[in-house]
Amino acid sequence: MAVDITTDLNVVRNIGIMAHIDAGKTTTTERILFYTGITYKIGEVHEGAATMDWMEQEQERGITITSAATTCWWKNHQINIIDTPGHVDFTAEVERSLRVLDGAVAVFDGVAGVEPQTMTVWRQANKYSVPRMCFVNKLDRTGADFFRCVDMMVERLNSTTLVLQLPIGAESDFIGVVDLVEMKAKVWRGETKMGEDYAVEDIPADMQELAEEYREKLVETLAEADDDIMETYLDDGDVFDVPTLKAAIRRATLADKLNPVLCGTAFKNKGVQPLLDAVVDYLPSPLDIEAIIGHKPGDEETAIERKPSDSEPFAGLAYKIASDPHLGKLIYVRVYSGKLEAGSTVVNSVNGRKERIGKVYQMHANKREEIASVGAGQIVAVMGLKDTRTGHTLSDPNNQVVLESMTFPAPVIEVA
Ligand code: GDP
Repeated sequence: MAVDITTDLNVVRNIGIMAHIDAGKTTTTERILFYTGITYKIGEVHEGAATMDWMEQEQERGITITSAATTCWWKNHQINIIDTPGHVDFTAEVERSLRVLDGAVAVFDGVAGVEPQTMTVWRQANKYSVPRMCFVNKLDRTGADFFRCVDMMVERLNSTTLVLQLPIGAESDFIGVVDLVEMKAKVWRGETKMGEDYAVEDIPADMQELAEEYREKLVETLAEADDDIMETYLDDGDVFDVPTLKAAIRRATLADKLNPVLCGTAFKNKGVQPLLDAVVDYLPSPLDIEAIIGHKPGDEETAIERKPSDSEPFAGLAYKIASDPHLGKLIYVRVYSGKLEAGSTVVNSVNGRKERIGKVYQMHANKREEIASVGAGQIVAVMGLKDTRTGHTLSDPNNQVVLESMTFPAPVIEVA
């Protein structure tokens, strides 16, 4: 049965996961889908049987993201993962997906560090001011070096890093992370199985000094970006509780484009749950993004602002056309304002054609959900559109707008 999705936008995260090929984007995404697949949706607990099926399926073949936008839930937050292609050849496609996401996780190979494609996609994300976090993956590999990778972020990406975790142990002895916000160790013992949780422990004695050094760096970097933090720090020193520090990290990530850095190994399931917590804590909701400015059809001089609210006239951007084996042609749309309703008529305000919205779906890793209507800030797949291409705006026939037109430069091949 079709359902209405008008979630409180504060709990929505539209994110992308970006990486150089082989850094572990697919593995990280699979782990995210696994962990989120066994948690709860707001007001509704997934049935036990469904959870079992999910786990069996996962164990059998691994769940891989196949959709241009996959919705999952973590701690009462709705996370829409927008697929961002990692290959340089798909630069235009990367740009298109960056246009519709609100925040991103950049995954790094802990051995290779910052690689050429990371630099390309990082620059593209800069262009759209996408707030982002970094996940240094593959810390179990021989030669992995978290600190070198962080140095490379500073040097090659010009990033202002906020190191939030330190690895405990290295290579095959990597067992967990020191959380510098909570000043606790999060440790995965032995071979972790799917869904296995970490133990929260005191920071190992031999890491106490390093942890204090990095905690001081973290607080000082935040103080430089945040007057309130600076004032308290100068008066009383580091007296910050966890919620205060998290709020400051969130502000710094969104407003000042500082980059929280986390680490782990997606392959061995160490570090992915804290990464999900950080997505919820630090990456923006659609309400944190500035209102989008479009223009009147045929009149680029007349600007029209659209806010992420269900009470505004409908406007959405088609960003990807995909072919689904069961459903045929699907067009992925980000709703920027108003509501998108199945069966309604909208206008493609780029070519002036009327379009009837057929079925609307929210795509999950293991199922799709038919939706009657969806509110601002959401990303859905729409069936039945005839004359709509990527980059086109769909709008309310009585209140048309063309959202910022998207033109893409030819792909640039970067040399290291
Ligand atoms: P993508 O190209 O970025 O999507 O990378 P994949 O997720 O496909 O990973 C590339 C390879 O690295 C695969 O063989 C993975 O099994 C492996 N891999 C991913 N994460 C880790 C990790 O944390 N540790 C190790 N040792 N290997 C990993």
